[in-house]
Amino acid sequence: MMKPTQLTVMSCLLMCVFILSVPVVQAKSAPKLILQITVDALRGDLPSRYYDRLGDGGFRYLWEKGTVYTDAHHAHANTETIVGHATLATGAHPSAHGMIGNVWFDRTENRTRYNIEDDRYKLLTVGAGVDQDAEIDSTQKAAKSDGRSPSAIMVTTTGDELAINTAGRAKVFAVSVKDRGAVSMAGHAGKAFWFSKAGAEFVTSNYYYEAYPEWVNEWNADKLSAAYSGKSWELLHDKDSYLFGDADDKAWETDLAGFGKAFPHPYGEADGKYYTTLLTVSPAGDELTLAFAKELITREQLGQDGVADFLGVSFSSTDYINHIFGPSSLETEDNLLRLDRTLAELFAFIDKRIGLENTLIVLSADHGGPEVPGYLNEFGINAGYVTPENWDKEPSFTSLKKKFGIDKELISGYNHPYVYLNHEAIREHKLDPREVETAVAQELLKFEGVAQAVSSNALREASLPDTPLNRAIINNFNSNRSGDIYVVFEPHWFINDFDGLEVAATHGSPWAYDTYVPIVFAGGGVPAQRVERRVLTVDIAPTLTALLGIKPPSGAAGVPLVEVFRKHGP
Ligand SMILES: [Zn+2]
Repeated sequence: MMKPTQLTVMSCLLMCVFILSVPVVQAKSAPKLILQITVDALRGDLPSRYYDRLGDGGFRYLWEKGTVYTDAHHAHANTETIVGHATLATGAHPSAHGMIGNVWFDRTENRTRYNIEDDRYKLLTVGAGVDQDAEIDSTQKAAKSDGRSPSAIMVTTTGDELAINTAGRAKVFAVSVKDRGAVSMAGHAGKAFWFSKAGAEFVTSNYYYEAYPEWVNEWNADKLSAAYSGKSWELLHDKDSYLFGDADDKAWETDLAGFGKAFPHPYGEADGKYYTTLLTVSPAGDELTLAFAKELITREQLGQDGVADFLGVSFSSTDYINHIFGPSSLETEDNLLRLDRTLAELFAFIDKRIGLENTLIVLSADHGGPEVPGYLNEFGINAGYVTPENWDKEPSFTSLKKKFGIDKELISGYNHPYVYLNHEAIREHKLDPREVETAVAQELLKFEGVAQAVSSNALREASLPDTPLNRAIINNFNSNRSGDIYVVFEPHWFINDFDGLEVAATHGSPWAYDTYVPIVFAGGGVPAQRVERRVLTVDIAPTLTALLGIKPPSGAAGVPLVEVFRKHGP
């Protein structure tokens, strides 16, 4: 029997819980559409760097109407595209979602594997796979097959949870220029479309569909990508109005297939070998993504019924442009102003069809990006390209030979960021894998640009000091896929060789410029505010599922961002 005071306390507690939970489950505040935007390589400072010159309704809509996190970071060490996208989609660390790198060495098949390749699920368009001659994305070239699916992602995504919760009634889609940008965001239950450079159209695989929906055939038949034929990427405004207006032609920029280092950048004719590639290295790639996404919203009737739908849109151009010209370039500056217009067009379109107040938008990035070493050198900052092919490795091999009786055969290969050791050779020679890892790691530390070499056995045994860097490497560690030694280069030092193509900048480090990204939530009753505390990208998915009142994705490691739940007014 309870005393009256206990009862009062109990009922008060129940009331409090009830009152607190009301806004979350209230039907009228439930969004009709969750729009998860990923801007590939949008470092956290880039939108605000040119804020004064942004137009209305794009970035400004999000930054002025939404909850803006100014110190958001990825918590994993390998800041690559699929790693970040999968983290944004699942709220899990790579250790759990399994996407530890754009590629990894598959020990059962004894070969390098591209993250979402799956030879069971062919592309619906024949010949639309990777063109080995023209592809500049060296990780995509590693794929053995053109088949694609999300099956290597080991946990559920926000879209998956929405589908599970609604008995499949929620529509879940994702679009990107990059296959891995779309497949990751669509999850296992959704449908993904991406741009094929070989086919000059948006494609998918038979994991998702037996045949294209009619609207996709119609959209592709319009050949929107051909509209850029013979044209150039030109500046949006007067050159004088740009921060980098007098720094267009820089020695470190890459002249890709005649695209040049200065404006205007000519795309060439539509039948040119690199034509579609050049579209993706310019704002045109995002414009095509926008056009396809708008058609998808209309034809699939997103946000038109009582069940919340999910659309992931990943804009890839910023990443390619950063790689080729660097983030502090006239090209990146113009691209951001144009991306701002692309976002504004998308938001205006959604406002008309669904209402921005009914659309919960979250924008973030799969990773940040480094400055070009040449640019940093102008400010006296130590920075450079790492060139392992120029390292004098002989003394290291001599030392390994002395210790273990073998040298070169100890190492299977390097797939950024891991060195993979030859487990068979280690077994055959009855060596202790721990000792070999430690010895190889010690040798690696002797080379120019190497800051840390972390043994995976040391991670398994938790024998490392608890530092932020080691934690980021642990978050990246998956037993089945990670290699034996995680190699970290010095800040501002990185390999810039894309399979023969020398680029200006490459992300993928655990340093702040690569982990730093924006996180902004807007619409659906989310208040306008700035939040300066440190938050993580793994927090996004659990925030979305909490807002939807459904369970978090299976590997979610983050926590809901409480500021997003505070309502306007009293
Ligand atoms: Zn990239």
